[in-house]
Amino acid sequence: MPSNRTRLIAGNWKMNNDVPAAKELASALVEKVSADNGVEVVVCPPTIDLACTSHKIEGSAIKLGAQNVYWEASGAYTGETSCAMLKSVDAAYCIIGHSERRDYFHETDADENKKARALIAAGITPIFCCGESLETREAGEHVAFVTAQIRAGLDGVEIDSADQLVIAYEPIWAIGTGKTATAADAQEVCGAIRATLAEIYGEELAGGIRVLYGGSAKPENIAGFLAEEDVDGALVGGASLKADDFAAMVEKAGE
Ligand code: PEP
Repeated sequence: MPSNRTRLIAGNWKMNNDVPAAKELASALVEKVSADNGVEVVVCPPTIDLACTSHKIEGSAIKLGAQNVYWEASGAYTGETSCAMLKSVDAAYCIIGHSERRDYFHETDADENKKARALIAAGITPIFCCGESLETREAGEHVAFVTAQIRAGLDGVEIDSADQLVIAYEPIWAIGTGKTATAADAQEVCGAIRATLAEIYGEELAGGIRVLYGGSAKPENIAGFLAEEDVDGALVGGASLKADDFAAMVEKAGE
């Protein structure tokens, strides 16, 4: 990676691990994940596990991320979690715009925009997910689709420094399917994302924003993605549930 962007490996546990299992996985990660190999490491447990995971990783190099947030500050929003609540457990990151949220819970670009604004105002870095369906890719419209998601989701979203925003490119057809994009596929879209970020934020800020790849990333294939110029890390689903695999990916990202 010919840039000075710090690589970032983030684990998305999705709806896995009850409180005892989260504590066990967090403890195993603290033991196994390299503390100082120059890679930033984030785990994103389910909301119910945020507090216990925060406690377990305290004092380690691992940072905490959430999987979702609501943009209002407080009030009658049953089932939702505010930015201040995430701050209270020391969450530094929050995934937004994941394709599962967009597909199963009908979240729109406008929703992701409000979440991004609220998180940045609260000092939490959004991990803004984008990605195309197989149908869109086969129609050759993947770059246009993803860059439109970026423009809409980040419309009017202001940042002063590159570390206030992370993008994760996750082709939907590669998530949880075992099918990975090729490294060249990932670079094509991640490069287009960075060019779009440059139009929005200017070359300098865009040059510092981390763009991750996600979709069946594992220890065996991560190095190929990371060798690409505009891929600065990975958002990892399935493989983040196994401490050995996740630690191995962090290790490879540090090489
Ligand atoms: C994800 O859902 O963010 C993801 C990348 O999942 P997986 O690694 O299991 O494909």
